[in-house]
Order: sequence, then structure tokens, then C-alpha cells
Amino acid sequence: MKLFPLRTWHRLCSLTPLLAVAIVGLWFLPATSRWQLLALPLGGVLVSIALLGAWQGWLLARRRLEFGCPQCRKNALVTAADKKRWHLDCPECGPLTIHTGWRSLRIASYAKKRPRHRSKK
Ligand SMILES: [Zn+2]
Repeated sequence: MKLFPLRTWHRLCSLTPLLAVAIVGLWFLPATSRWQLLALPLGGVLVSIALLGAWQGWLLARRRLEFGCPQCRKNALVTAADKKRWHLDCPECGPLTIHTGWRSLRIASYAKKRPRHRSKK
């Protein structure tokens, strides 16, 4: 089940530390400040991203998680993941290893493009 392109999910996850810092920063404002009302929607966004991540973990454990390939945007099955890497199996590009940093995605290794048609001899 494809939810997002991998880059979109990575950008959403990159927002979470900023959201958490903003929410904690809002707690330090005086209790009468109206800016504290902003913590509620920000917290809602943060919880939504966390729930999406939990659901993706559930899909990954059942080998049903797919993302849009960062190269060709086709549905690519996630075969493994950890804190720093995603392993995708794209039907167009083949197996891909993608390293993630806080602000960047880097395709570390990939097989040559799979042939679309085998020549008949
Ligand atoms: Zn691809």
C-alpha cells in the first residue's frame, strides 16, 4: 500500500523535531498568552505524523509498505528500514538503498535498470 512518495514522508519526518521544539517553547510562555493555543494544532500534527509512522511500521512488518520511488515515482516495496536507511525494491529501478539525513535523501546504491523487454533470440 503506497501512502506517499518517500521524499514527502522524509520531509514530514524532518518537521517533527521543529514541531516538538515549538510546542515545548510555547509551554514557557505565560499562561495568559494566546500563543499557547497554537500548541494544540501543532500537537495534533505531531501526533498525526507519529500515528502514520506507527501504521507504516505495522505495514512494514507485514511487508506491505510501499513508497513512491525517489527516482521514477512508481510504487516500490520497502524490503527493510532502519534509522538511517531505506531499502526499496522498485519494479522499474530494481533494489535501491537510500540513506537519510535530517535534511537530505541520498540514493546510495542501485542496480542497473531492469530490462523492460527481453529480446527473443
Ligand atoms: Zn524506481
